[in-house]
This record gives sequence, structure tokens and C-alpha cells, in this order.
Amino acid sequence: MNKVRHWTCPYCNHDATLRDQDCESSGTRLIIQDPIEGHKFVWWDYVVCPNPKCRKFTLQVSLLDCNWNKNKTKWEIGNLIRVWDLVPPSRAKAFPDYIPKAVLDDYNEACLIVDLSPKASATLSRRCLQGILRDFWKVKPGRLIDEIEQIKDKTDPLTWDAIDSVRKVGNIGAHMEKDINLIVEVDSNEAEMLIELIETLLKDWYVAREERKIRLAQIKSMADKKDAERKRDGSQEARENGGL
Ligand SMILES: [Zn+2]
Repeated sequence: MNKVRHWTCPYCNHDATLRDQDCESSGTRLIIQDPIEGHKFVWWDYVVCPNPKCRKFTLQVSLLDCNWNKNKTKWEIGNLIRVWDLVPPSRAKAFPDYIPKAVLDDYNEACLIVDLSPKASATLSRRCLQGILRDFWKVKPGRLIDEIEQIKDKTDPLTWDAIDSVRKVGNIGAHMEKDINLIVEVDSNEAEMLIELIETLLKDWYVAREERKIRLAQIKSMADKKDAERKRDGSQEARENGGL
């Protein structure tokens, strides 16, 4: 069960295809007679990250309905009721520490409470988004919706489309128009979507900027090396020619 073959490690961000030896899972039934909420089935999944430099484990527990089949010959597993991420305690991804701590703290906390309280999670996501816009784009502080408008012509169209489509979903748009202290009802799908948007922006902006910086520095150092070699060869040649 939960045979997710493609998997991203929440600790090292390594994308992996899980093999049987990376996963361990098992389950047990609640079969005590006549529980008022019906019989249940609990299932746990361990995964150990296949990346040899990481090898950390995750533990997820799922609760499902469980009923006798028609003839009462076999137990059948029914609907999924709830999934808990126990280790690590949320689905937050690992992001590099050159991203401001306040932004990462809000993001991690938004992930941590997304199931328990979507509206509190969305409020943290909104603050996180605002933190990103102010730090990365230096926007003029205002309502979130106006701050987003300020970057419309600066960011690439695909990222803009993502922001624009998320803010049109359910109550999220209303959420962005409100004062930061006002908590707006959102459902857990909307709260999840905000988290996914934040993850996209962290990758598209902070991580991409850092990678570009590294790439350009590498090109520059390669060019500098070539230039130094050329100058050295040139002066050697000049010396040789001069010596003739
Ligand atoms: Zn890992």
C-alpha cells in the first residue's frame, strides 16, 4: 500500500525511485467487537532514503475503514480516513539556508499545521509569501494582493501564471486582500495549494538565483584561467622570440 515508487526525500531533496529494500510497511486491524465508529485498519510505512549520503528514515501512518465482506468471510479495507506524517512531522521540503530564516520558519510551520488548521496554515503562508516578495523583490509594503501586482512585469510569465491562478482559487484571493491579522476560512486543499506555490517560488527565485550565481562564477573562473594561460603562453612565446 502507498506504493509511491517515485519519491523525494524530505531531508536531502534527492529524487529517487524506491526499491523494495528501501521500504518497510505493515498494518493491523481494530477488530474489537462493535466499535461505535466501525472497524479500522492502521498501516505504517517506513522509507529509508536510498541516497547513501543521507539514509534518513520517514514514517507515515494511515488510518482506514475496515469492514467484513458480504459473506463475512474476509475483512475488506475501505476508505482512507487520515494520514499522519510522523517522521519528519510534516511534508515540508528541505530548502537551503541562504533563504531568509523568517521565510523558512513560516513555510515549515504552515506545513506542520496544514491538516490540523488549514486557516492558520494559510495565514502563515500568506505571511511567508509577503516575506518572500519583500525580501526578494523589495516590493512596497501593502496588502498582499497589491504587493503581488508589483511584480507582475518583473517575474517570468509562467511563475506569474502560477501565482495568478492560485489567488483565484476559493477564498485565497479574499485572504490576500485582507489585513494580515484577519483569519479567513480556507479548506485544506486551498492551504495545500498555497504551500505548493511557496515551494515553487522558493525554487524559481532563490534557488535559481543561487544556481545562476554559481554557474556564472564557474564560467568566469574558467575564462580567467584560460586568459591567464593565454597570457603565460604569450609571454613565453615573446621571450622565446626575443631570445632568437
Ligand atoms: Zn535523503
